[in-house]
Amino acid sequence: MLDSRQVTLSYDRKIQKTPTLQHGSLMQQQQKFAGTAPAPDLAGGSPEDVIDRIETTIVDVPLRRTHFHSSGTHGSQSYVVVQLFTKGGAVGLGEGVTPGGRAFWGGESVESIKATIDHYLAPALKGCSVFAHERLLKLMDRAAARSNFAKAAVDIALHDVVSRLLDTPLAAFYGGKVRDSIPVLWPLATGDYDRDVDDALEQLSTRRHRYFKMKIGQGDPEADVKAVSRAIRAIHAQFPEACITLDFNQAWDEQTAARWLPALQEAGAALIEQPVPAWNAAGMARLASRLDIPVMADEGLWDLHDAYDYFTRGATDVFCVKVAKGGGIRRAYKAAAVAEAAGIPLCGGMALESSIGTAASLQLFGALPNLTWGSETIGPRLIADDLATEPIRYREYEVLIPDGPGIGAELDTDKFKHYRRA
Ligand code: MN
Repeated sequence: MLDSRQVTLSYDRKIQKTPTLQHGSLMQQQQKFAGTAPAPDLAGGSPEDVIDRIETTIVDVPLRRTHFHSSGTHGSQSYVVVQLFTKGGAVGLGEGVTPGGRAFWGGESVESIKATIDHYLAPALKGCSVFAHERLLKLMDRAAARSNFAKAAVDIALHDVVSRLLDTPLAAFYGGKVRDSIPVLWPLATGDYDRDVDDALEQLSTRRHRYFKMKIGQGDPEADVKAVSRAIRAIHAQFPEACITLDFNQAWDEQTAARWLPALQEAGAALIEQPVPAWNAAGMARLASRLDIPVMADEGLWDLHDAYDYFTRGATDVFCVKVAKGGGIRRAYKAAAVAEAAGIPLCGGMALESSIGTAASLQLFGALPNLTWGSETIGPRLIADDLATEPIRYREYEVLIPDGPGIGAELDTDKFKHYRRA
């Protein structure tokens, strides 16, 4: 009788013998030599469930207020609306998004997302069953290296169409909701620390938010640390329960971080996000070991492979799981599982999604048991108008997870027409 270890080994061996990327490889090759076309693999679905076409449209939605970021400011947020049509007429809705819709954060922009999908991803997937999700991900990898934000937009549409065909909320794919709402973080990003304090006090006194993220690192380090420490203390003086995290967006080098982060810890910061450049995972690990409060990677940690690497190096104490950066819902879930294995708690991250992308993220975040650092999914509150017929709802510090079917959001066709880029 085989024990489980032997089963695993023989399974691994089998995997290694079989070329993995090919579309039904051996049978396909045999049929090729025999001069017959391979039968399409429907992955258990019907011939109606193959992808007919994928349409992409850029939309530009105004923001309520200018959003400050270490790489500049933006007054609107752009999206790529993805509509995936099956032969049978089912439609899946997805959203491509990067901060500001621009390329500064991760190299992709709405324009590049649209081009990557139109020219490479959509042609690669045409004619394949929407139920063959893992195979579709591999086909996208073969068609385009990296391009996580573009792949994520298609991955969301795939999840949406499959869960609609099965008439189930997407969260059911990942074990179902373990909560109905998640504490949500408010970005203190007015560009002025005194105004940030007023903003935070307003949010706290109206019971809208008690988790905050401040952006820091663009000015002189000593002056920034003094101003931010003063701001944290001013907020805590009135609301000791406020949780204030600091995002540096890679602004400091390791020596500056080692010099000044202890002062911010002393002032009451709850968490330090990406103080040093994305490439410096070793520096992140050294800083994490010097501080008592958690250090969290963002720009340096993209997918499940980075996650494994960061966790084994001790280079992040919290994992900010993001659907867009992570290459889609399925891969974000896998990375979250790696975090669970490593005992790393999760934060549900965002890239300023509208209610469409936010709904998709929340379907996943609602199903993750180890999501103890809340969520950043505040996009719908930052845009002045929305793309979904029913925007995501917020209530007393928390964001509510929508029900399905699918991702739990529908495209508002009037808004879509209004904001689409000419
Ligand atoms: Mn960040």
